[in-house]
Amino acid sequence: MEIEFSGAAREVTGSCHILRVNGKSILLDCGMFQGKRSESREKNARLPMPVDRIDAVILSHAHIDHAGRLPYLVNEGYNRTIWATAATRDLCAVMLADSAHIQEKDAEYLERRGQPHAEPLYTMADARATQERVIGVPYHRWFDVSDGVRAQYTDAGHILGSASVVIEAIEQGVTKRLVFSGDIGRDGLAIIRDPEPPTGGADVIICESTYGNRDHESVDGAREHLARVVRETAARGGRILIPSFAVGRTQELVYDLHALRRDDQIPAIPIIIDSPLAIDATSVFAMHPETFDRSEALVRATTKIFDFPLVRFTRDVEESKALNTARGPMIVIAASGMAEAGRILHHLKNGASDPRNTILIVGFQAEHTLGRRIVERRSELRIFGDDVRLAAQVEVVNGYSAHGDRRELRTWLDEVRDGGKESGRTTPRVHLVHGEPDAQDVFAESLRSGGYSVDTPKPGDIRPL
Ligand SMILES: [Zn+2]
Ligand SMILES: [Zn+2]
Repeated sequence: MEIEFSGAAREVTGSCHILRVNGKSILLDCGMFQGKRSESREKNARLPMPVDRIDAVILSHAHIDHAGRLPYLVNEGYNRTIWATAATRDLCAVMLADSAHIQEKDAEYLERRGQPHAEPLYTMADARATQERVIGVPYHRWFDVSDGVRAQYTDAGHILGSASVVIEAIEQGVTKRLVFSGDIGRDGLAIIRDPEPPTGGADVIICESTYGNRDHESVDGAREHLARVVRETAARGGRILIPSFAVGRTQELVYDLHALRRDDQIPAIPIIIDSPLAIDATSVFAMHPETFDRSEALVRATTKIFDFPLVRFTRDVEESKALNTARGPMIVIAASGMAEAGRILHHLKNGASDPRNTILIVGFQAEHTLGRRIVERRSELRIFGDDVRLAAQVEVVNGYSAHGDRRELRTWLDEVRDGGKESGRTTPRVHLVHGEPDAQDVFAESLRSGGYSVDTPKPGDIRPL
């Protein structure tokens, strides 16, 4: 029994680990590598192993860095089961189609730039075919994956449908228990439940480490910050422009704005969700109330948490452009999250030079993105080839991260470890994945001083289970 680390090893994206038991191979995730275009193209086109020898895929959640290469796998001939939670399955239908659309556009762009036969990694048809392979299972129920291997999901509290995976493997009479964290969320995030560390202990834990060296602002602080920005901007007669990821972050914002409005913490101004992907994703959220956190007041108070009189969803481009000439204060939420593409660019081009407006940053902004230049409050922004003066206010709210910080990751690990004490298990070995080397090294050191044996595998490393 062994594990090979194929992706998200010493980096954040491309999540993929290969579990080998009784001569069978099971993939945990098959995510897309993201980052520098040419580099990631090459990495994405390299399969983790020959497709005909993959016996099953167990998916942790629908984010593209975990699920994004599944259509490529299917295009290459994968025709067995992909396991997922029911909400992840439905979210994949939306997100993989969007990803396929981006791949197709990318290939067209490269071809226009003189690269003949630039093939998309996969197409819309592959995304649809992938959906037929996905079986949705409930949390907390064992499912048989292959000879001697069964698995179960617990809630990872990260995005809708997100899961940690417990795997029990029996080979030649020896039973081993593996826990794969997936991406671990945070206590108190809107809509979804808090992370639920698997019980029963583990021999080995594969654990994410994205923010292994960071502390976050509290979730409650983020909501108060949002309320203040909305009040102040509306009082100036300005707009609040929010670049946001279409899935997860946008729904959280709508939910928080709804809750704030119910408590009369913000004025009654229009809230525009200007993103077709966000609209589709929101309807998937609405389909899965069974995953909502019943301890939250708004979840208990109404079944229509995304649908209230001030909210308007705009699907077509003309409607979106018409917003430019609308008057009065409003909130506009649009993708992309780092303002690199998407409809937010129109709104920024139109609104960045007006000092009454606020650009509200709610997510991590990578280097060399327009979002980062806004955070740095550059005096000029380049949008669609034009220079636009940045005179709007800029506010940054850090509390909306969907990833646990180092304290939350540690608590999660300790709980998994302690769950094994009753059955006499010793401290599990921990393999850190899904983190930049800096974050991993700091986190690994702190875990070692807490008595863990920790490892930060590189791509291609193999470890016994
Ligand atoms: Zn994720
Ligand atoms: Zn991830």
